[in-house]
Formats: sequence, C-alpha cells, structure tokens
Amino acid sequence: MHYSQKDISDIEHAEVVADLPEKILKDPRFKHLESITIPNHLKEMISKGDLEHREFRSGPFWQKIPYFKDTSPEEFMEVSFQNQNSVTKVAHLDDLLDNLVDPAFLADVHAGMAKAPMNLRISPYILSLINWEDPYNDPLRKQFIPVASNLRRDHPKLTLDSLHEQEDSPVDGLVHRYFDKALFLPLDVCPVYCRFCTRSYAIGSDTDLVTKYSFKPVPKKWDRAFAYIASRPEIEDVVVSGGDSYMLIPDRIRQIGEMLLAIPHVRRIRFASKGPAVLPMKILSDQPWSQALIEVVNKGREMGKDVVLHTHFNSPNEITEITRKAMQFLFKEGVTVRNQSVLLRGVNDNIQDMIHLVRKLSYMNVQPYYVYQHDMVRGLEEMRTTIQSAVELERNVRGATAGFNTPLFVMDAPGGGGKRDVHSYDYYDPVSGISVYRSPSVDEEKVYLYFDPIQLLPEEGQALWADPKRHQEMIDDAIARSGNQKLEPAT
Ligand SMILES: *Cc1c(COP(=O)(O)O)cnc(C)c1O
Ligand code: SF4
Repeated sequence: MHYSQKDISDIEHAEVVADLPEKILKDPRFKHLESITIPNHLKEMISKGDLEHREFRSGPFWQKIPYFKDTSPEEFMEVSFQNQNSVTKVAHLDDLLDNLVDPAFLADVHAGMAKAPMNLRISPYILSLINWEDPYNDPLRKQFIPVASNLRRDHPKLTLDSLHEQEDSPVDGLVHRYFDKALFLPLDVCPVYCRFCTRSYAIGSDTDLVTKYSFKPVPKKWDRAFAYIASRPEIEDVVVSGGDSYMLIPDRIRQIGEMLLAIPHVRRIRFASKGPAVLPMKILSDQPWSQALIEVVNKGREMGKDVVLHTHFNSPNEITEITRKAMQFLFKEGVTVRNQSVLLRGVNDNIQDMIHLVRKLSYMNVQPYYVYQHDMVRGLEEMRTTIQSAVELERNVRGATAGFNTPLFVMDAPGGGGKRDVHSYDYYDPVSGISVYRSPSVDEEKVYLYFDPIQLLPEEGQALWADPKRHQEMIDDAIARSGNQKLEPAT
C-alpha cells in the first residue's frame, strides 16, 4: 500500500491514542514530553499477555509443597539444601508428593522409571515449579519424570548413541568432529538428569535398560584430552560439557580454564551447564564457583580469548526471579550466557511458549543460540517432534524479536553428520517422515537421515512403517529423490 502526502499528514494529525506512562512523566528528564501529541500509529496497541515474558515468578513458591512448607528463602537459596533434597529415588518422590497427586499417577511414574534410559535426579527448585494439580501436562514434569502411560514405541531406526560421538573420540572424554571445534567431556554427572539426554549412553549411573560407557572424572584422563587439543593446531574452540560444569568444584573450573587458555591456538571456551535452568541459586549463593568462572572469563578476555557460559532452558516455567537475579549477576560481571534448547513435544513445541521463552531469555540478556531437533534416542518417542513442526515454529519465531536473539533451529544429523539447519534438507517427505541431509564439512560422501516419530505421521505414513519389508525401499526412495544416489547413507 502506498500513502500519499495527504495520508501521511492525516496520520500525523490523528487523535492521541497512547498516553505516556506515569512512570515516564514523573521522571524530570521526560517531563517536557507531556505536551507532545502521539499520533495514532498504524500498529495495534499490544495486550497485556504480549508482555508476559517480563513477569518472573517470585516469593516462596516452594512452600506450596508440604515437604518444603517451612523452608525459608535463605535455606532454599543454599546449594547444599538443593543437593540434599534432590530426588533420586522414586520412593522419595512418593513421600514428597503424598496427598499432592493421585496415587495412580505415582504408579504410572514407577512403571515409567522401570523402562527409562536415565536415572532420576530433580532439584527441589524444579519440583516446586511443577504444577502438581496437572502433572501429566506439566512441561517440567515431562522433562524429568517419565510416566509409562505416555511411552510410545521406538522408531525402528533409533539407536542409543545416534550421534556416534564415540567414533569421533580420539581420547576418552573428547569428541573432535568439526574442523576447529572440540567437545571436552570432563565428567559424567549433572545437577539433574533430563529424560531426553542425548548422552544417555554415558551420563549418570546404569539403569536397567542401559549399561553405561564410563569416563570417570579422573583428572589424569583430562591430561590426555589437553594433550590432544594441544597437538591439533586447528582447534580454536573448546566446549566443556559433560556432564555438567556445575558439578566441577571451583578449582577444577580454574584448572580446565587455565590449561585451555594456555594452549596458544585455543581462542574460545564454552562452559556448558544446565545449572542456571535447574539450580539458578548456585550462581548467587556459591560465590567460590561463580568467582572461579568469572576469573577464567576475565583472564581469557585479557588474552583476547572468549570464555562464555552455555546453558539449557527449555520452558519459560523454569525461569523465576531467582534466575533473573542470577543472570543479572553474570551479566554485570561480564559473563556472556547463551542458551541451547531442545525441542520437546508438549514442552516447547508450540509457537506461544517458544516465543515466550525466546523473549524471556532475551530480557535477561541470555542469547537464544540454538533450538535442537530432538535426537533419535531410545525410549523417548513421546518427546520427539517432526521436522515439519520445527520448520513451522522457526517460521513463527523469526521476527518475534531481534535477529541476534532468534535461535537457529538445528538437528544433529544422526550417524555423526553434526549440526544442520533443520531447513537445509535435500529432501523431506512429511508422509514417511524421512528427511535427507548432507554435511559436506563432516563427510562429503554421505547422506544423513532423520526419521519423524511414527505416531505423528499421517495415517498413510504410519501404514508404510507398519510393514518392515518396505522400510529399505522407503529409505532408498527418499535418497533417490534427494538427488544423492551416489552417496552412502550414514548409519
Ligand atoms: C555441538 C558440538 C560442538 C559445538 O558446535 P557449535 O555449532 O559451534 O555450537 C562441537 N563439537 C561437537 C561434537 C558438537 O556436537
Ligand atoms: S543436563 Fe545435559 S548432559 Fe545432563 S542429563 Fe540433562 S541434557 Fe544430559
């Protein structure tokens, strides 16, 4: 639509629609703006719900749980309280939730745990944020507590370590897949255990379903990782993950930081931790830990090297006033924090919650970096979404806020292809749910396949997968249609 000069002058002289807020007018620096007529803008005024990302849950929300009804804010802020009261056994959950939830729900949890690839570990902080009046639909419950009734049969193409990290691992606890980046896994414990963990092949202790490959947090093993990194001049970027950096004592944070910073070609270090999402109080109340991180960040900055914290929020429900204060503390201290979410069905796979999450993170100066398509790991079919839904979400999220705060939607190509923009498939059939990707920087000779969860396919697609004899034909067909017949599918 084009506006004539007259239209524009009409707009300029239109009625005043927005008054300046009281707060602004009270500020003497703005007083003189009072007389300015604000033109009727073409854009509709927002409604209150559009700003929900600026609201942070505060007050003693944990006291709603009978078990924590006498816990003071001072106590709740202590990491020792959070650790001592973390739930690691289903029986403990029974006690804690007695009278709060239907016994049938607890029975469902017991049955779910028996089939789970991950152990249970939940902080009181997260427990208190779950809506126990409706645990089946709660986005935090879904991430940490399995229920058998929701489990779906695995896709026939799923494997446990779908990312093949062990194949790209030159020494224990180090993955070197990309040209200049390495992933250092110094430990195998986390402050919580996420049901959907990509590294369920290694994280936590053994469950009935999975005997874990183990790299114990013995610093001697770290030396082999440092030696490898030092021997490869192309490595500029080291992700310190695990496990979780939150579980490293301050001296170990310093040790890792100093060793890596001392390797001349290492230019960027990211400490990865789920911590800010599940135990945000640690940043405020465990000063030795925060100060160790801040020291490494500052030391890196002096050397012209970038040291940052990468974290993992999935739902706006994980974010409270405690989180906001913790993130503000890090921001003030000059620590860059970025976020990597996992796209989870029923948790953040709807437009409203994803936009809310992205805006809330941005509001706290946490940069939304990635949203990952759920990896093809066993025992979690009810958490995965389709490629189509990731693409559609991205379409709606982009534009909702600043571009630099808009996450990239990626999938980690099964079979070791590494991260790919979800949109970048050579071929995708929403009926069979098969998508075909290439990853030339990792291997020019291969194609990488992702399979949507069968229950989300149209009936026609579900019928195709019902017949095992057709699987290979469907896969060959998808590769042929992608135009990559000459390439080998990664397995
Ligand atoms: C994700 C990942 C990295 C870091 O990748 P970015 O895209 O730079 O965040 C490095 N190594 C491995 C093996 C990874 O999976
Ligand atoms: S915090 Fe990260 S590494 Fe640990 S269980 Fe959760 S997803 Fe896995």
